Amino acid sequence: MAELESWEFGKSDFVLLDNLTIEEFLANLKVRFDKNRIYTYIGEVVVSVNPYQHVDLYGRDMIEHYKGRELYERPPHLYAIADSAYKAMKRRAKDTCIVISGESGSGKTEASKYIMQYIAAITNPSQRVEVESVKNILLKSNCVLEAFGNAKTNRNDNSSRFGKYMDINFDFKGDPTGGHINNYLLEKSRVIVQQRGERNFHSFYQLILGGSDDLLKSLYLQRDAKEYAFIRDGATVNSVINDKENFKAVMKAMEIIGFSDKEIDTIYKILATILHLGNLMFIAESDTASISNNDVVSQIADITMTVPDTVRKTLLHRTVATGGGEVIKKGHTVQEAAYGRDAFAKAIYDRLFCWIVNRINDVIEVKGYDPRIHGKNTVIGVLDIYGFEIFENNSFEQFCINYCNEKLQQLFIELILRQEQAEYQREGIEWQHIDYFNNQIIVDLVEQPHKGIIAILDEACMNVGKVTDAMLVDTMDSKLGKHAHYTSRKLCPTEKNMEFNKHFRIKHYAGQVTYSVEGFIDKNKDTLYQDFKRLMYNSSNPVLKDMWPDGKLSITEVTKRPLTAATLFRSSMIALIVNLECKEPYYVRCIKPNEQKSPLIFDYERCRHQVEYLGLLENVRVRRAGFAYRQPYERFLLRYKMICEYTWPNHLMSTDLEATRMIIDQHDFQQDVAYGKTKLFIRTPQTLFGLESAREET
Ligand code: ATP
Ligand code: MG
Repeated sequence: MAELESWEFGKSDFVLLDNLTIEEFLANLKVRFDKNRIYTYIGEVVVSVNPYQHVDLYGRDMIEHYKGRELYERPPHLYAIADSAYKAMKRRAKDTCIVISGESGSGKTEASKYIMQYIAAITNPSQRVEVESVKNILLKSNCVLEAFGNAKTNRNDNSSRFGKYMDINFDFKGDPTGGHINNYLLEKSRVIVQQRGERNFHSFYQLILGGSDDLLKSLYLQRDAKEYAFIRDGATVNSVINDKENFKAVMKAMEIIGFSDKEIDTIYKILATILHLGNLMFIAESDTASISNNDVVSQIADITMTVPDTVRKTLLHRTVATGGGEVIKKGHTVQEAAYGRDAFAKAIYDRLFCWIVNRINDVIEVKGYDPRIHGKNTVIGVLDIYGFEIFENNSFEQFCINYCNEKLQQLFIELILRQEQAEYQREGIEWQHIDYFNNQIIVDLVEQPHKGIIAILDEACMNVGKVTDAMLVDTMDSKLGKHAHYTSRKLCPTEKNMEFNKHFRIKHYAGQVTYSVEGFIDKNKDTLYQDFKRLMYNSSNPVLKDMWPDGKLSITEVTKRPLTAATLFRSSMIALIVNLECKEPYYVRCIKPNEQKSPLIFDYERCRHQVEYLGLLENVRVRRAGFAYRQPYERFLLRYKMICEYTWPNHLMSTDLEATRMIIDQHDFQQDVAYGKTKLFIRTPQTLFGLESAREET
């Protein structure tokens, strides 16, 4: 291809490999990684390897270098993809999306930020004030969302613990006028417990280490993370992340976005409330629980502007409606009280996070846009969502995250592989079929109505207390035992790494994952006693109250069977796919070169695994067998009819196909094209270059 790199940097497009084997693929990836050429194409897909060090690829000069260029004119880069998406949006008024995938720590979030920075840098040449402000807010939103939605995990010091899809809206001039963020399933269990070596969300440490003395005092907090049960375990110093500095940056970002003082104040009050909740001590008093450190209750009441006695009662009782329509207060056992408290802590953090997202959306949402006056409003969507996860202990969260990745892989197959093949067939182009693994079968295993794992799980949740974890595995075994991608210990008794009645395993497209069902039913049901919602709704702090509109309902009014967490997640995934499907997709496939976060190690086996499960080889095969460019004859003629005397100003041939053939023959490109029923297919960019320069010469 036309890229200006020498052979020692390897092939800039995997399509150009001499022999398409996994070994050659990896060898090329490694050569490029060693030379800091972290991006490589497969046609229009960017494969990116995390360099784990600063690479000099993102300066202003680089942005200029890529601006307005065609993909094949420059070395592979995220900027080129961003520019392509931008051009498609601007020239052809197409909605586009950039889907970034890869496992935890592979560089998705960094990539999404570079893409956004590029788009911000190349737009608004006339420096319109309102556009500058939108751009600034879009960029600043990352800082805030990372503070509240990211955490240090064993895989990544700044791991996104939520999924994010952001639409950027553009006006007819191609300038950003607003946007919208969709967030997906925050891993809220992290608020109360973290695995060894991991931390709670960054926001807590930022507050403790960066908040002023006065702020901490007003929140009854001490400047020592070890004092607080919810962050104690993760309180080890994080050398990579500067919490103190980040506190300031987040504060500034929130101000720029337009959060009011009262809102910022409330955000920190909520964080403090959670930390205090974690320190509550429940003791048994006859059958029920009581609280031994009541001073903490008073502090929580003060911070949340609620009544201390109500806080205490809410923590120790729940209101239940009896069958006869009577409403009674039932005292908690110590265990129930702790459970309720944890559920409450998780819920207020989750609400806070969603509220922050909504608040940002309020500011960036395009208002008063009238397509009749302003022209079509087009969007570029950027998806940065959690990658496939295999941990030592895989729970409900990993189950959801991995299901999400199955859905995205399905979309990739649908868009890149299947559609490509289908088009050649439709157009009658000779074509060699490429085999690839279609993971629809695994998607079905999880999401199918009545029969899938989510359906079985939901059924178990209707009988909480009666269905145990063991019974859940039993039911799954009986319903899914024959499925090629499901197994459990009972079905596979010789298996060493699985415990009887506790584990089940899914053979995902990206590898086998053993899940522990412990907590599945509970996390799926996601119960929060109505009393907590009422408590928050009755707060005298209007910002806090606003986050809990459902607290208005009395116990007799609440829905008995709210949708479960997995079902809500499934719906949000289905909606996401529907949204992406109707856009022109661009893909960034991120690869993590090693587990040590080292710029020097290219772990062959780890990389091989990722290349395999991302289906990159199949991607190259489809691309190689295929044609890089295609255009309906009519469009082709419109653009190139002037480069041939027989077609200019209008051709006299019987069909557009014949006229197109005329142009191609005259310019000697016949080796590189194929004629479909309605479209011309061009194999390589050189032909396109040739046509373009012929056009410029006329
Ligand atoms: P997760 O799924 O856990 O959110 P992720 O794929 O979003 O992971 P990132 O947070 O983007 O991963 O990247 C992890 C780390 O790798 C970054 O904090 C940074 O240190 C390094 N990194 C990623 N991309 C680059 C890059 N282009 N240049 C330099 N360092 C990078
Ligand atoms: Mg991330």
